[in-house]
Amino acid sequence: MAWLALERLDGPASPRLRARRFAAGRLTFGWSDCTTSRQGSLRLEGTAVEDYTRHLVGNEWVRGSGGEYESINPFTRSAWAVHTHASEADVSRAVAAARSAFPAWRQTSGYDRARLILRLADLMERDIDRLAELETRDNGKIVRENKNQIAFAARIYRFFAGLADKLNGETKPLDNYDTVDYTVREPLGVCALITAWNSPLQLLANKLPPALAAGNTAVIKPSEFTGVSTLALGELILEAGFPPGVINVITGAAGAGAALTSHPDIDKISFTGGVETARLIAANAAAHMTPATYELGGKSANIIFPDADLDRAIPGAVAGIFAAAGQTCVAGSRLLVHADRYDEVVEAVAKRAQLVRLGDPMDPQTQMGPLAHSGHLTRVQRAIAAALEDGARLVTGGTAPPGLHDTLFMAPTVFADVTSDMRLAQQEVFGPVLAVQQFRTDSEAIEIANGTGYALASGLWSSDITRAHRVAKELRAGTCWINTYRTSAAQAPFGGFRNSGYGRERGTDGILEYTTTKNTMIDLSTAVRDPFVLGR
Ligand code: NDP
Repeated sequence: MAWLALERLDGPASPRLRARRFAAGRLTFGWSDCTTSRQGSLRLEGTAVEDYTRHLVGNEWVRGSGGEYESINPFTRSAWAVHTHASEADVSRAVAAARSAFPAWRQTSGYDRARLILRLADLMERDIDRLAELETRDNGKIVRENKNQIAFAARIYRFFAGLADKLNGETKPLDNYDTVDYTVREPLGVCALITAWNSPLQLLANKLPPALAAGNTAVIKPSEFTGVSTLALGELILEAGFPPGVINVITGAAGAGAALTSHPDIDKISFTGGVETARLIAANAAAHMTPATYELGGKSANIIFPDADLDRAIPGAVAGIFAAAGQTCVAGSRLLVHADRYDEVVEAVAKRAQLVRLGDPMDPQTQMGPLAHSGHLTRVQRAIAAALEDGARLVTGGTAPPGLHDTLFMAPTVFADVTSDMRLAQQEVFGPVLAVQQFRTDSEAIEIANGTGYALASGLWSSDITRAHRVAKELRAGTCWINTYRTSAAQAPFGGFRNSGYGRERGTDGILEYTTTKNTMIDLSTAVRDPFVLGR
C-alpha cells in the first residue's frame, strides 16, 4: 500500500490549552475534559499542553522571563508544550552560572568528570522511550529513528567520557638543551551549544560530552521547535549529580540564540543549523573573537557507477534522501547516476519512494512522518515549485500524499533530468526531495559532485575498489561513504567545509575543538641571558 491513512488529524483550530504548572517534575499528557491532573497540569477537551516554561540554571529550575511560546506537534498540528523565551537577563544568568562553575569543574579530575558523563549516558538509555517520544511529538520524526539516534547519543557520551582522562600534552625536544618544554590541553571555559530541530539530543551529544570531558561548562539552547527533550535531559542531568552550573539549559527562539552567542563571557560556540544563521553568529562572535564550530547544511552527492550493486545502491539512495523525511544535514539529495544505469535507477528509486509508509510517527510501522513545522513545509513546497519552473522532470511526489492534504506531510519526491544550473541542484531543501542527475565519465561525476557551495558529505557505489578510492580522493566533502550511506560512528570525525561549516565533531578531533594548547618552558640553566635579544 502506498500510503497509510491517518486516523485522526487535529486541525489548527483544535482546542489549545495552557498548562501553567511551574515545576521540575514530569507532566502528564492526557485526553479529558478540563480538569487538573494528579501532577497538576491542566487539561482541556482534546489536547493537554504540557508546561515546559522552565530553564535549568545552576541546578535550579527557573522560569524564563521573555514571554511564552508553544511547541506544535507536527502530526496533530496542535500545541502540546509551552516554553518561555530566555531574555537577555536570563541568558546572562545562565552564562554567569556556567562561569562560576568553571574553576572547580576544570580542576575536577578527568576520571570524575567521566563518571558523571557515563551516569548521564546510563540515564538516557534508561529513559530512551520517553525521550524518543518527546522528540517525536516535537519534530514529527518516526519514534523508531529518534530512539535509534538517542541510543547513538548515549554511545557518543561514553566515547567522550573515555577521553576525559586521556587529554595528554606533549614534551618537545628544543634546540636549547637547557630548556624543558611541555604542552597541556586546557579547557576553554563557558561553551554555548546550539542545536537544530531535526535531532536535538543526538546533535547535542556531538557537543556536550566533549565540552564536559575537556573540563568546560555549558549553556545549551535547543531550537524553539524542539525544546522539550533537552529540558527532559535537564532532569537527568540533575539526577546524574552534576555540580550546579556545569550544565545549563535555556529555551527560546533566535533572540535567545543571538544573546547567547554574542555574550562577552562565552569562550566557545558550537552551532548546528543553517548557513544564514551561522553567518549572523559568526558576525556576533567576531566582536569577542569567540572561537566556533559550525555544523551546517549540505547538498550531498550520492553517486551510482555502472559497476554498482544496485540491490544495495537503491536502498542506499532511498536511505540517503527519505530517512527522516530528508531532514538530515547529510541527506544524499543529489543522486548522480551513470547513463548506462540511469533509466533503471530512476524507475527503481521512484518505485521505492511510492512504497514509503507515511503516517503517525509514533507507529512502529511508519517509515516517514510529517515535516517538522509549517514554515518548513512551505520552504520545501517552494523548492519543488522552483524545480518545476527550472525544467526538472517530476517522476513521483511533489505534493501532499493522497489523503493527507492540509497536513504537514510531503510525499517522497523524485525529480529526474536535473542539471547543475537548476536551483534543485544547488540549494539545500532539507526535505524528501531527490534530484537525479546523469553523468557519463568518472571525471564528470566528480565535477558535478563538487559543483555546489557545500562540502559536507558524499557517497559512491561501485564494485571497483580502484575507482572507488580514486573518486573518493577527489570528492570535496568532510565525509565520503563507499557502498554505504548515512553510517555514523562515535569514533569517526564528522563535519564539513565551505558553506557546510568548519570544525569537526565526534572522534578524537571532536574533543580538541573544546581545548586550547598551552605551552610551558622551563630554563634549567643558571646563565643570565641578554635581555635585548630573543631567547632561543
Ligand atoms: P537554523 O539555522 O534556523 O537554527 C539552528 C539553531 O540556531 C536553532 O536553535 C535556532 O533557534 C538558532 N538560531 C536562530 N537564529 C539565531 C541567531 N541569530 N543566533 C543564534 N542562534 C540562532 O537551522 P534549522 O533549525 O532550521 O536547522 C536546519 C539546518 O541545520 C539545515 O541547514 C541543516 O542542514 C542544518 N543541520 C546541520 C547538521 C550538521 O551536523 N552539519 C545537522 C542537522 C542540521 P530557533 O530554532 O529557535 O530559531
